[in-house]
Parts: sequence; structure tokens; C-alpha cells
Amino acid sequence: MSVTSPQPIGGPGTGTTGQAGDLGGAGPETAGYGELAMEAIGLRKNYRLKGSEILAAVKDVSFKLYRGAVVALVGESGSGKSTVAKLLAGQEAPSGGRITLHGMPVGVMSRRQFRRYKSEVQLVFQDPFSSLNPIHTVRYHLARPVRLHQHPVSKSALDAELVSLMEQVRLTPAEPFLAKYPHELSGGQRQRVSFARALAAHPSVLLADEPVSMLDVSIRLEMLTLLDDLRTRFQLALLYITHDIASARYFADEILVMYAGEIVERGPAEDVTQQPAHPYTQLLVASAPDPDNLGSVLRGGGQRAARNIDSLGRVTTGCPFHPRCPFAEDKCRSEDPPLMQLSQARGAACWRLDVAAPQLVGAAKVEPVNGI
Ligand code: ATP
Ligand code: MG
Repeated sequence: MSVTSPQPIGGPGTGTTGQAGDLGGAGPETAGYGELAMEAIGLRKNYRLKGSEILAAVKDVSFKLYRGAVVALVGESGSGKSTVAKLLAGQEAPSGGRITLHGMPVGVMSRRQFRRYKSEVQLVFQDPFSSLNPIHTVRYHLARPVRLHQHPVSKSALDAELVSLMEQVRLTPAEPFLAKYPHELSGGQRQRVSFARALAAHPSVLLADEPVSMLDVSIRLEMLTLLDDLRTRFQLALLYITHDIASARYFADEILVMYAGEIVERGPAEDVTQQPAHPYTQLLVASAPDPDNLGSVLRGGGQRAARNIDSLGRVTTGCPFHPRCPFAEDKCRSEDPPLMQLSQARGAACWRLDVAAPQLVGAAKVEPVNGI
């Protein structure tokens, strides 16, 4: 990785921070993937809490999803990953920024337009049990989106499509599975039904929000392999949301590391996991395969900065990671670093990577541990 002359790309509040185009366009676009399906540009989401308090759940997030490519959104609980997915899926309205689908701006939609949008952009959730209705069979769950997508559809064409969908997700022989209710299926089988239901709408974008984290560890790899296979076969533009940076490395082309609503590091999956530049990414890598257990890794290293923290525990001034960062200096406590360009396709938001502090850059090169 070249980190010789990092330059800030955009700045806080400019709406340009972190745009994939700013990172030299050397992402999936130039690696032989398909066309640009979806783009998030300077996306923001504020939630109004009790009283006048505002929670900035997503701050100036930009990225591109290409057909046939996987972008992983990695970060700890509360970092804003699901909010990004909800914004892209049209379940929440952004407070700022823009979304495009196939180059067209996504704005206020009629019911009919929204139905079309929903079939193009499918969301798969973490918990396959709660996303399937217990009183309906698998057939019912799959037939609805097929009918909505192919209207009208004959009985024989519907049956053929249902069998094909079951085969795509390897629930065969199809007929007995189609007759089952969700409670008669294992967790992995239920998630396969969720994938089949998403595919039934013939989407170009699949937003998979922690699709394997509730499954038994023993079948996670099998499910990710299936998802990877579906991505290739249907040329899906896939956003893979996860806590687990190890699975992101295995699965994704590009990794976006999110912290407190911001993208703090981005780049090709291999580079980000082999040579993490941001201290938070370094900690994620160092604590893999148990990235939820950051407390023990951070204990002792981070410095408390109670003055800069609001009642929600969010940092109000400086780098959002500085209270937990073992390398925090005065500047980190007062100014939020922009995403700095590290190489053509990489960026990280950390003052240690600023040209003003080149002697600290080498410290970013930590050796990965725990098999990453
Ligand atoms: P997890 O890994 O636990 O799923 P996440 O990264 O998906 O976390 P989000 O669910 O996007 O995080 O939430 C980001 C922040 O926004 C959190 O602080 C959350 O409490 C807050 N939040 C999410 N939805 C709402 C809402 N409807 N109203 C108020 N705050 C919300
Ligand atoms: Mg979430």
C-alpha cells in the first residue's frame, strides 16, 4: 500500500467526503465488474430523539454498488449500517444527500414507482424467522413477489418459477419445502427462503443486513458461499452488512468501515484487512474473529474525553473515535479528520495519515492476527 502522500478528499460537510469517484475510480468499475447499479452520495440520516436532541445516525456516506460486485459495510453495533440499508431500500427518507438507481435520482415516488423500486432493490434481514410470516407456507411467501413481478402469470408458469427459485437456493426437492411453514424449517433453510423471496422480484441490488449472523457458525460459510454464487449468477450488486471483518475479507470486493455514522476507512477488501490504516480498522482486524469483543482490545489503550461526549455517548468534537483511540492527540480531540486518500482506491479518516505527520504513517501497518 502506498501511503506516501495522503491528501484529504473532500472535507467534513462538503458532501464529497468518501465518494468512490474521489478515490480514483479504481474500484470494481475497472476490475471488470458490471455496470453501476446504485450510488449513495453524501447520504445523511438524523433521528429526532426526545426533546430537541438529534442523533446523526449516518453522516455524509458515499459509495457505489456495481452489478456483480460486493461492497461490505463493516462496523460495530450502532454505527449506522442498518440505517444505510434502510435509506437505500426506501424504508427511511434521507435527511440529506442523494441516491441514484441506474443513474436516475431516487426521490419521492408514487405507490406504483415505489413497488417497482422495491423489486429492483431487495433487502434481506438478519433474522429469517421474524421476516417470514408464521401463518403462511413457503409457497405463499414466494408466490406473492413472483405474481407482483410477472403479472399476470399462469399457474404452470408460477409453479415452474417457484421450483426454479427453490433450486437456486438449493432447497430441493422443491415441492415438499414449498408446502412447509417457517417453523418447520431450520434457521439456514429459512434464510434460503428469504434469499429466494428476494430473488423472486428479479432485483439488481441486494442489501443483505447481517444475513448470516443469527445462523449457526457451522453453516455461515455455506450460506455466504450460496450468496456469492447468487451474486455471480444474477449479477447482483450486493451490499453485505456485517460486524465480522473476517467474513468481509472472504466475501467482498470493497470494504467500507463505519464508525459512529461515518465511513472511517475504505478500499479493496484485501488491502483494508491486510494493512488496515485507521486505528479502528486495526482493532477490528486484531479482534477478529470476535470483533464484537472490542472492549478487551481497547481497554487501557483509549483515553477518556468526557468533555467531548454528549448524553447519547456520541463524540461532539474531533474524531469520533478519539476517546477510544490509543494514538489520540490534541488535534484528534478538536478536529474531525476528513477521509484522506491513501492510494488510488483507498481512503481513511485519521490525522495520523495526514502529510503533516508522515512519521506516524508507518505505525498504521500492523500485522493481521487470528488468521485474517
Ligand atoms: P447493529 O449492528 O446493532 O445492527 P447498526 O450499525 O445497524 O447496529 P443502526 O441500526 O443503523 O446501527 O443504528 C444507528 C444508530 O441510529 C443507533 O444509535 C440507533 O439507536 C439509532 N437509530 C436507528 N433507528 C432509529 C430510529 N428509528 N429512531 C431513533 N434512533 C434510531
Ligand atoms: Mg443493524
